[in-house]
Amino acid sequence: MPKYISDLPHALTHGDQLAQQLTSKRPAVFLDYDGTLTPIVDRPEDAIISESMREAVRGLAERCSVCVVSGRDRQVVQELMGLNNLIVAGSHGFDIWSPGGGMIQREEGGDFKELLDTVKTQLYEVLNAIAGALVEPKKASVAAHYRLVAEEERPKVKAVVDSILAAHPDKLKVTPGKMVYEIQPKLDWDKGKAVLYLLTALDLDRGDIIPLYIGDDITDEHAFAALAGRGIGIFVGRPDDPEVGGRTTAADYILHTVEEVEQFLESLAR
Ligand SMILES: [Mg+2]
Repeated sequence: MPKYISDLPHALTHGDQLAQQLTSKRPAVFLDYDGTLTPIVDRPEDAIISESMREAVRGLAERCSVCVVSGRDRQVVQELMGLNNLIVAGSHGFDIWSPGGGMIQREEGGDFKELLDTVKTQLYEVLNAIAGALVEPKKASVAAHYRLVAEEERPKVKAVVDSILAAHPDKLKVTPGKMVYEIQPKLDWDKGKAVLYLLTALDLDRGDIIPLYIGDDITDEHAFAALAGRGIGIFVGRPDDPEVGGRTTAADYILHTVEEVEQFLESLAR
């Protein structure tokens, strides 16, 4: 039976139920960055983590494994987090650093560099002429942001993304996010596969560990689905948000705001 975001129990008010699932197990906590640890902002470079959230994550990472999984480049996430006791998986899990094991680099993304350079050039050519449009080149993808673009200009952004994709149907795909199109190499890879890979790579795939994943975006659904039945997925957002609406989900709980995520992380560290 499909489960709707509006039906999810709240992770703080149903904390007893959740605590029961955690009994006699150690959590391994996977966190998305944008929209989960920081509010969504107009420009990605403005998504700065608050000092209190940083403290909450630091405190939790002293108690159990904490891994930030982001579509951003790993180094950018590490700089934004400013913590050295965290596992950081950038580029949707392609590029991983852990305090114990150093770098774990996956090779599949390497062959696509030239193609992504072409994509970047083509996006700049068109989007430079559209007020508010932003091109964000990343290591394993190129993002076209349109949050600041006037409503009537937005179809132009979609048109250039569509034409780039049409030119490389076997090699590129687009992942729509919150007011962003992310053009990525077409690989069989997503945040769900990344989390399962991380559990194995970090030796967390054990009976005494229960994985938790907290995220706010459509891409996080892959992680919720991957953990269904073996972990706990927590969706971040408001059920009355029109972008979320009556969407179905594989998550188990909901937190409404970044502030509630902070409270929840503090409660887990106790
Ligand atoms: Mg997010």
